[in-house]
Amino acid sequence: MVRQGQQVRDAARRTLDTIEELGLLPTPETFSVWYAYHSDSNPALVRAVELLRERGEALDAARCQELFDQFLGTAAHERRLQSAGQRLGELAQLLTERIDGLSAGAERYGASLGAANRAAATISDRSQIMQLVGSILAETAVMQNQAQQLTQHLAESTSHIQDLRRDLHEAWREARTDALTGLANRRHLDAALRAAAAQAIEHNVTVSLVLVDIDNFKLLNDRYGHQVGDAALRQIAATLRSGTRPTDLVGRYGGEEFALVLPGTNLRGGFGLADRLRHAVASTRLQIRQSGEGLGKVTISLGVATYHPGETVGDWVQRADAALYEAKRAGRNRVVALDHVETARRPTEPRGVLTAA
Ligand code: GH3
Ligand code: MG
Ligand code: MG
Repeated sequence: MVRQGQQVRDAARRTLDTIEELGLLPTPETFSVWYAYHSDSNPALVRAVELLRERGEALDAARCQELFDQFLGTAAHERRLQSAGQRLGELAQLLTERIDGLSAGAERYGASLGAANRAAATISDRSQIMQLVGSILAETAVMQNQAQQLTQHLAESTSHIQDLRRDLHEAWREARTDALTGLANRRHLDAALRAAAAQAIEHNVTVSLVLVDIDNFKLLNDRYGHQVGDAALRQIAATLRSGTRPTDLVGRYGGEEFALVLPGTNLRGGFGLADRLRHAVASTRLQIRQSGEGLGKVTISLGVATYHPGETVGDWVQRADAALYEAKRAGRNRVVALDHVETARRPTEPRGVLTAA
């Protein structure tokens, strides 16, 4: 126990020292990141920090926030969803209470009218009539007032519901989007692949998948740094998006890999598109804005495969991956389309192969 207390104190002291050294503010987020690092409680975070240090990347406030979001915090879209869910619950509770209030009021109103009705049978003079009418009018005014309040509350709730809808839509969009490139993320791509396969089976339509991998991207990162690497990723993402139709889904499949799901496109069509994209990327001259230094030719390799109704999505992706592997093996900056794979792991003599470079 004493030992554990000492460890906690040591980790906290080192956390504060690091925050001081890096010139950061000791916010809960920075504290959490560095405490997790010094107490060795989150191996993935420790590895990420070490990688950043190896690369000589600045560990500034923005980077700490990224580390917090990635390893410790909930992502922005999750926070948004949580808050929307909570607000929706509160709103439902409020509306229920107000509607309950109104029905209790309506019950009281009904009871008063009943009593007035009974009293009317025994009325003998004008002043009693006036008194009865007066009390009915007063009850009616209370009821009207309550109904008016409810109408106003309902109007307010409608506007809150519209805000909630917008927030939920935004959270839904964020959950499917890759933050760096703005393209569909892996989760969205996986869902789209499953949906496309189901469509192909159900409606007998063709769908092609193109897997894209940047050539020698590690070299580019090593030579120019991670930030330039990220900028190149965004640029290539934009080229892929602008070279495809709105009905084609373009996403980031992993680090420096992209995937395109092309509904209604056969192998030859997918191959043609892939080759145009290959050309578009290879002919884009990237340069560093500040120094004007050119990055040299950045190229991509692409593998194309069409879905065979009945096979698993995994088989389909594996075929596109085998085609991509073949494109890399054949020298990079090329497209291979595979219709058939002889062996599961590696295409030896694939049939129906198209290649281009
Ligand atoms: P190949 O032509 O065989 O694909 O070679 P490669 O260097 O592109 O492939 P490798 O798999 O060896 O390296 C991929 C590199 O991509 C390593 C990794 O650091 C980098 N990378 C992955 N994700 C990101 C990212 O989000 N940003 C940056 N800048 N680099 C990334
Ligand atoms: Mg790769
Ligand atoms: Mg690569």
